[in-house]
Amino acid sequence: MADYDFDIGILGGGAAGLTVAAGAARFGARTLLIEKWKELGGDCLHFGCVPSKTLIRTARVYHMMKNAEKFGLPRVAPKPVDYREVAKRIEYVIGLIQKHDSKERFCGLGVKVEFGDGCFVDEHSVRVNGKTYSAKSWVISSGSSPSVPPIEGLDETPYITNREIFSLDSLPQSMITIGAGPIAIEMAQAFSRLGTKVILIERGDQILNKEDRDMADRIMNVLAGEGMSFYLDSTTLSTRDLGSLKEVVIRNGEGRVVSLKAEAILVATGRKPNIENFGLKAISVDCDRHGLKVDNRLRTNLKHIYGAGDVTGKYLFTHAAGYEGSVVLSNAILRLPKKTDYNHFPWCTFTDPELASIGMNEQAAKAAGIEYSVWTEEFRSNDRSLAEGEEVGKIKLLLDRKEKPLGVQILGPHAGELIGEWIAMMEGGTRLSTLASAVHPYPTLGEINKKVVGNFFSGKIFSEKVKKALKFFFSLKGRACESAAKED
Ligand SMILES: Cc1cc2nc3c(=O)[nH]c(=O)nc-3n(C[C@H](O)[C@H](O)[C@H](O)COP(=O)(O)OP(=O)(O)OC[C@H]3O[C@@H](n4cnc5c(N)ncnc54)[C@H](O)[C@@H]3O)c2cc1C
Repeated sequence: MADYDFDIGILGGGAAGLTVAAGAARFGARTLLIEKWKELGGDCLHFGCVPSKTLIRTARVYHMMKNAEKFGLPRVAPKPVDYREVAKRIEYVIGLIQKHDSKERFCGLGVKVEFGDGCFVDEHSVRVNGKTYSAKSWVISSGSSPSVPPIEGLDETPYITNREIFSLDSLPQSMITIGAGPIAIEMAQAFSRLGTKVILIERGDQILNKEDRDMADRIMNVLAGEGMSFYLDSTTLSTRDLGSLKEVVIRNGEGRVVSLKAEAILVATGRKPNIENFGLKAISVDCDRHGLKVDNRLRTNLKHIYGAGDVTGKYLFTHAAGYEGSVVLSNAILRLPKKTDYNHFPWCTFTDPELASIGMNEQAAKAAGIEYSVWTEEFRSNDRSLAEGEEVGKIKLLLDRKEKPLGVQILGPHAGELIGEWIAMMEGGTRLSTLASAVHPYPTLGEINKKVVGNFFSGKIFSEKVKKALKFFFSLKGRACESAAKED
């Protein structure tokens, strides 16, 4: 049997790679982790989730200061934002989390960490920093990068992506955002709240195109109410550098050519997998523009090379990368065959209000030809939500023909936390009646989860049939107030 330097080698130290590295080393595997950036943590820590959520929090505080009167407080007129201070706080939070993702911590677990550009030289060996390391199994977890569309003039026009946006020297007065996916929308709202005049361009006819239109439209209304402008159904034709301003020319929904100008352009039009320049072609690993091709055990066409995280182009989330890392561990280290299962996969867009989902939404159920019923409850009927000054949003529960949950979407305050109850329910196969009868503390936002299920059951429980039976057996006398009956 061939003798390799390592049991497992990992290319890319983001969420996926770190999950595999920590787990493999703890199980006693001789583990190599190669990362090309100067620190571990990947996009999520340095250019993604962590800086964006930190920025969103700062922007929300500023927004609330400006809206103090809404809470019965004296009017506040805060000074304009110094973005360098915002960027400092982002750096600070990254630094706190970096300790958890440090080289020292991974060395402590037994992982050999190499910083540098890894490149396959054969099916079992990668060259980095002039040294070649062989491993029995490899994991490609090299992540993704901003995908920049071929727009005329864009190459000569300064623009920013998620790589630059968290470390700008100053807050742009105005910004045109090209794209309306989760990254674009989260950043657009945060900058708008900090004081940037934001214009958003989207070629589709709604923002957040993977979400149901009713939910996406409610978010768009909130953003428009906060001062953002939208050009939907619009094609970006060209861009031009005018010095302090940049021009973006679009064809809008009515077919008219419109020239827009702003101090900054944010390009957030999706992601492309990092599959170039590290020898994948030379060793014939199958991939296309969507990413590495992997089977449901995350093996590439070379069965000892696995793919996990954004590079596979499937679910571009940190928790997906972590989950896929755990599937790789099971297959490559424990040798327990494990397949991926995304049926109860949750995600959240961290706008204010947040939009969290698990399982199928209406759009997905329709596309799959599945019959469903929809049950809803509004946040404006939730006492805690009103006390918090949060009136926008609703929960949507989709049931299949057998009245089992297909999916849940929550648009509202702390939706990302509220979906947790549904993750446990759906993963555990818990019955809806259990949730309906579970006592929730009052007043909490979480009561909305119980209430939407209550809406489903109330038609069955308070039916004419039940009323008739109770009247028959126990001689119940019926309504006491006829005027209320008329109002109903
Ligand atoms: C602005 C923004 C906000 C986001 N917010 C969220 C969120 O709130 N929640 C969420 O779940 N997801 C969020 N995401 C997505 C999340 O960041 C990614 O899904 C996650 O980082 C993917 O992890 P990964 O391990 O696949 O890749 P990454 O974290 O990108 O790690 C890949 C690593 O591989 C390294 N690498 C690449 N090529 C090589 C090579 N040849 N040799 C060595 N190393 C290499 C890279 O330097 C990188 O460190 C956000 C993304 C962005 C851009």
